[in-house]
Amino acid sequence: MVGAGPVGLLLGRELHRRGVDTEILERRGDPGGGSRAIGVHAPVLAALEASGITERLLASAVRVRRGEARSGSRLLGSVRFDRLRIRFPFVATLPQSATEAALTGDGPIVRRGTAVTGVRRDGDRMRVLSRGADGERETPARIVVVASGSAGRELAYRPGAVRVRSYADRYLMADTAVAVDDPTAIVRLERGGVLESFPLPGARRRYVAWDAHPDDDRTGARLDRLRRVLSGAGEGDAASRLVSASGFRVRRVVVARMRRGALVVVGDAAHEVSPIGGQGMNLGLLDAATLAPLLAAWVRAGAPPEQALARWERRRVASARTAAALASMNTALGRPLGPRADAARRAALRAVLAPPTGMLFAHAYAMGLDRDA
Ligand SMILES: Cc1cc2nc3c(=O)[nH]c(=O)nc-3n(C[C@H](O)[C@H](O)[C@H](O)COP(=O)(O)OP(=O)(O)OC[C@H]3O[C@@H](n4cnc5c(N)ncnc54)[C@H](O)[C@@H]3O)c2cc1C
Repeated sequence: MVGAGPVGLLLGRELHRRGVDTEILERRGDPGGGSRAIGVHAPVLAALEASGITERLLASAVRVRRGEARSGSRLLGSVRFDRLRIRFPFVATLPQSATEAALTGDGPIVRRGTAVTGVRRDGDRMRVLSRGADGERETPARIVVVASGSAGRELAYRPGAVRVRSYADRYLMADTAVAVDDPTAIVRLERGGVLESFPLPGARRRYVAWDAHPDDDRTGARLDRLRRVLSGAGEGDAASRLVSASGFRVRRVVVARMRRGALVVVGDAAHEVSPIGGQGMNLGLLDAATLAPLLAAWVRAGAPPEQALARWERRRVASARTAAALASMNTALGRPLGPRADAARRAALRAVLAPPTGMLFAHAYAMGLDRDA
């Protein structure tokens, strides 16, 4: 397997649990890699319950049962995850590093500091070429799974074969301590663009704001801009506590094929969706959770379960398309608008977040539209 991000770690662990001899090659020397995904959704919590991972995640996560859409001091509507009739009626929030830590241990060996440089077919076997502290190596494998994120996509697809759509939108992001530990997710839709605020464990919050001046990417300039956005939104306390702010951009990728023979692609290597919507990691975790039993059956039988794999691929590509469409809608909804368009946006949101359509929003944001939910 290529990559020990959340998706590779989960798949490795699930295969190991089923007795499949698995090795993960990871180019980074140490775990970690910055704060990214913070929300784990209900279908993932349900899929990981049997393996005990859900209990580990929930031990430290905040359970977000409710979200609010606001504009200035006005409440436009609520998204009530707690009213969904599902096993886990909330979004569990915790830093991605904590999710990865919960997925680590009881799994296969992770060979860190080893970058995979190529994957090739050799008769009915695969060969994985890698470079690490012990030099160049070639490892034979029956099945290769690429879980490399976008960084290693070219291991599985020819250059230019995958359509990458880059959005012009840029965002500022920071995790910071706050004075009031409120477990409500808040999305502020202001004329100057969206400001999202999500609870994190330990009286902290994640802030994400549309960035009006992304060209000035000096660390101090970003921090000043995010402080100004927070202060303008009445979050003066959080603004004063910020010590740094990062920036990110948004891309959309959904491949048409996730498997060719004994090469399978999962997670961000196969699909990237805008973080404005928070479903990217969850999509990949569901790829892994649903693929593991099929790969285990393949290894046991010595032949691929073709029909089940084809169904898996169709479901996962369809789920990625749905999540990407939802994320694109969120991205568009959070752009700066003039006064009349902003008023129309507020009115539309008030209408759709009211019952009964409000429950459809909660269902969609909780990943209820995923084919494996
Ligand atoms: C700012 C931001 C916020 C986000 N927030 C959310 C959120 O709230 N909810 C959500 O669901 N998603 C979110 N996401 C998306 C989420 O972070 C990704 O979808 C998730 O990390 C993908 O996991 P992965 O394991 O597929 O890939 P990655 O996390 O990218 O891991 C891939 C691993 O493969 C390794 N690798 C790459 N190439 C090679 C190679 N050639 N050889 C060996 N190893 C290799 C990398 O070092 C890495 O460790 C966010 C993303 C960003 C940028």
